[in-house]
Amino acid sequence: MGRALHQRQEIDALDSGGSLDRRDEPVQDRTELGKLSRSHLAEIQEMPPGFDDYRSCTGLLQQAVANHKRREPPVLRQVAEGVLIHESEFCQSNAVVVQGRAGVLLIDPGVLGYEMAAVANDVRELGRPVVAGFSTHPHWDHLLWHARLGEAPRYGTARCAATVRDRLSDARAKVRIAEQLIPPDIAEQVPLDLLGLITGLPAEMAQIPWDGPQVRIIEHQAHAPGHAALLIEERGVLVAGDMLSDVLIPMLDLNDTADPIEDYLAALRLFESVAGDVDVLVPGHGSIGGADQVHVRIDQDRAYVHALRDARVPSDPRVGPSAAFDWMSGVHERQLQQLARRSERDGTPG
Ligand SMILES: [Zn+2]
Repeated sequence: MGRALHQRQEIDALDSGGSLDRRDEPVQDRTELGKLSRSHLAEIQEMPPGFDDYRSCTGLLQQAVANHKRREPPVLRQVAEGVLIHESEFCQSNAVVVQGRAGVLLIDPGVLGYEMAAVANDVRELGRPVVAGFSTHPHWDHLLWHARLGEAPRYGTARCAATVRDRLSDARAKVRIAEQLIPPDIAEQVPLDLLGLITGLPAEMAQIPWDGPQVRIIEHQAHAPGHAALLIEERGVLVAGDMLSDVLIPMLDLNDTADPIEDYLAALRLFESVAGDVDVLVPGHGSIGGADQVHVRIDQDRAYVHALRDARVPSDPRVGPSAAFDWMSGVHERQLQQLARRSERDGTPG
């Protein structure tokens, strides 16, 4: 399969008229993966230097690389009529393709260059171009793009776009992201040249402006500034961004927020208010859920946030021995510490 994959990519590189992009080569032809583990998935800039208790998704990635030789190249998988997803080998990130009349909407395109190129190939096979993009929130793993996806407008909420603009404003921002946030073993495969080119949609705009099924923007403050879930009502699909995951605990936005716990609980209530319209739940990372999973995951996230608020040990399968990602317990500890520091500083109890 490795050979076939490689050939397919060479052909695509040729027919797109460009030189072969190193980042698009299959993983097994690249540097050895998995030697290092470091942080990612956090704020673009706020991570303190030297912070390394976060572990990467490297274990999964190693497994995926090992599997590469006997697996088909990644393809889009339909989860509802006209809605397809691609699950990345990096932290089970989900890219979502929504078919419209003249082209597709691509939500959170993916992480690894060769994966985004494969998504571009699959979209091309659908016979429709990408006519719009959307990033659910201003974290690096949701802001990427690949040249082969074309030059469609890429949207986010106004607050998301402003945050990106602010964080990418200095010349060394991308270097810092590459060095501090992206796990070193995949850094070369994450194309940063088109990172964060987001157009902010005015706050009063309730839908994504495009020629396709209505996509309602559900903005809230929880995981990141300007975080938005998307509800594709006609298809019964909720794209939840980095919430309602079966593998990630709620990760709160603890920067410059007055009440991150209440913000998160309010966002969960917002999800609850649309839950009845949802048949398919697509989290930013993790498994796709059916209608029965929506309330389960809302309740699970709420229970975690309550435990965090009360500084209790959460009984949550996403942290602890059965967790999909062993670095999740470190995230939990860090959130506990930061909240404790905040309440000390503010002089408010727990
Ligand atoms: Zn993410």
